[in-house]
Amino acid sequence: MKTAFLLSILLLLPCVAIAQNPTDFSQYDTSAEFDIKSGELKVTTELTIPVSALTNNEARLFLNKSFNIADISGESLKEYSVNSSEKVPPWNEVALVFEGASKAHEITLSYTGVIDNTGGHGNFITEDGIHLSIDSAWHPFYTNFATPMQGELEVKLPPGWKMYGPGAVTQRDNQHKLTGTKNQVDVSFYTTSSSNEYNDGSFSVVYDKANEENAKSLAALGSGCLAALNQKFGQEDKLESATLVILDRDGPSFARGNYLSVSSQRLKSKQQSYHYICHELSHNWTALGDAMSHDYWMMESFAEYIAAEEVKSVFGTEAYEQILAEWKARAKGQSFVWRADTEQRASFKVNYGLGPLMLKKLKDRIGEEKFEQLLHWYMTEPVTETEKLLQNLGKLASDEDEEWFRLLLEGH
Ligand SMILES: [Zn+2]
Repeated sequence: MKTAFLLSILLLLPCVAIAQNPTDFSQYDTSAEFDIKSGELKVTTELTIPVSALTNNEARLFLNKSFNIADISGESLKEYSVNSSEKVPPWNEVALVFEGASKAHEITLSYTGVIDNTGGHGNFITEDGIHLSIDSAWHPFYTNFATPMQGELEVKLPPGWKMYGPGAVTQRDNQHKLTGTKNQVDVSFYTTSSSNEYNDGSFSVVYDKANEENAKSLAALGSGCLAALNQKFGQEDKLESATLVILDRDGPSFARGNYLSVSSQRLKSKQQSYHYICHELSHNWTALGDAMSHDYWMMESFAEYIAAEEVKSVFGTEAYEQILAEWKARAKGQSFVWRADTEQRASFKVNYGLGPLMLKKLKDRIGEEKFEQLLHWYMTEPVTETEKLLQNLGKLASDEDEEWFRLLLEGH
């Protein structure tokens, strides 16, 4: 029985394995223990670092500055240093220098530390729950904020606790394992002693006491958007389920694949919640290139555009007009979205304002049918370069349209 099950998994695997070159992302195999009374953590992680993540044979990782590193070792590790980060002062940068020609290097890193539950970053280890993400640098990740990671996180939790995070969670006794098979830039999860969870079909809302009243309606909104997006873009890559964790906490809201962690302040009205959830869910289909690059606008602007369309279909034209007005207000004073000779990531105002506005202008020019084709192509192919988008626009519409949109993005 067990063999048959394994075999069917193995048969399913190749399409996943072929789609991603294993040397493109960094792998982690992490085990963590938490002291919920003192807020202390104890972590050992085995990292596989691909050559693509190295510059001059060196990899750089962020880690919370207050942590004590017990050990860093690896066969091809020549030396390492730990210094406080100029880029992000509360964090350290761990520089790892490797030797020898290898496609990937392996290291083991062990550390202990205490999470400052009042640090304003929304990360905490308490008797009620544990919420950890990039914002406390509790787990090492790459200093370019872009090198993708995948792997397994194993944690031991008190009896009765549940774990949520991007990927799949399995449990054996008090041992919980979170397996992520999609690229993420960090390792994040939430775990809690309470069983406050509301499910609407394949969409779950996990909430604290302060958000009890909203859970049911958020679950319905999430479930609706998940179904709508799956119908549009999920033919080959369906998002089977998603979990929204909503807590009365500090710090940013964020989404990682099927795991959304949101602070209560973020979701005020139904329309706003639907917009936010749809934006985040649509990222399941927007390919992650380099998060610091000038091409990054596509990810955010397409997600914004799609979310606005969903809001229109559920809440009507007036709601849609409101979003348009927000985009316009944000875009004020911004002169361009993208230029071939510019490298750095565009501002928030461009990515969430001018960018989606330009996509709408493009739709008005080439018509709904061609635009829908372009949108579907963008959402179902690994498109991470604006040049590729322009090229395909040329194919789907015309060379004139391609040139027109190029000039529009460049701000002419
Ligand atoms: Zn986004």
